[in-house]
Amino acid sequence: MTEAPIAHDQILIVEDEPKIARLVADYLNGSGYRTHHIDHGDEVIGWLSEIEERPQLVLLDLMLPGTDGLTLCREIRQRWPRIAVIMLTARVEEVDRLLGLELGADDYICKPFSPREVVARAKAVLRRSQALDTSVAGHDLVLDDSGWRALADGQDLGLTAVEFQLLKVMMQSPGRIFAREQLMDHMYRDHRIVSERTVDSHVKKLRKKIADIWPEREIIRSVYGVGYKYQPEE
Ligand code: CA
Repeated sequence: MTEAPIAHDQILIVEDEPKIARLVADYLNGSGYRTHHIDHGDEVIGWLSEIEERPQLVLLDLMLPGTDGLTLCREIRQRWPRIAVIMLTARVEEVDRLLGLELGADDYICKPFSPREVVARAKAVLRRSQALDTSVAGHDLVLDDSGWRALADGQDLGLTAVEFQLLKVMMQSPGRIFAREQLMDHMYRDHRIVSERTVDSHVKKLRKKIADIWPEREIIRSVYGVGYKYQPEE
C-alpha cells in the first residue's frame, strides 16, 4: 500500500557526508517529500528559527562538524516539540547509548542504511506525529508520546498517565463520541473493574488542566447520556 505524502511535508536532512545526503534526498524527493539539506551542525538551529514553514521531520546525523547531533536533538525537542527527529548513527552500539540518554528522538537508523528504509521510517514517523498533532482554532495542542507530555501552545499540561491516554485516544478521532466504557478500555489495559464515575473524574481533571491554559476553549465536550468527544474547532 502506498500513501501519497501530504504536499507540505518537508524533511530537513542534517548530514555532513554529501553522498549520503544526496542519496537520501533523491529517494525522499522521489516519494513526494520536499527536502532541505544542511551539512554543518552550527547552522541547524538558526535555519529552523528563521524558516517560515518548519519541516515536520529532521533526519539528524549524530557526528557532525560543529554542534553535534545529540545537542541538536535536545534543542529541537525543547524548542519545537512538533518536529519529529530520526537520528542517523554510524554504529549499532550507539543506539543503546542514545536510548539510555532519553533524547526523545522518534526513531534511530544505523548506517549503512538503504535509502528505502529511510523513506519507510520517515513515513511511519510522520504518520504518527501527524495523528497526534492538531491545531485548535489556531492554537497548538501537541502530544509528545516519548515523554508522555501534552503541550498546549508549548506549555506542559502536566497530565497523569491516565489523563494522557484519555486525551490521546480522543485526539486520534476528532469529533467521534466515545462512550465511557470505550474510554475505560483504553485507560486500563488490564481490564480492571473501574466505575464510569472514575472515567468522569479523570476527564474532569483533564478538562481542568486544559482550561487552566485555555480558559475560553472547551475542546473536550461531554455528550449527555453518552460520553465524551474531542472537538478542536467550533
Ligand atoms: Ca557524520
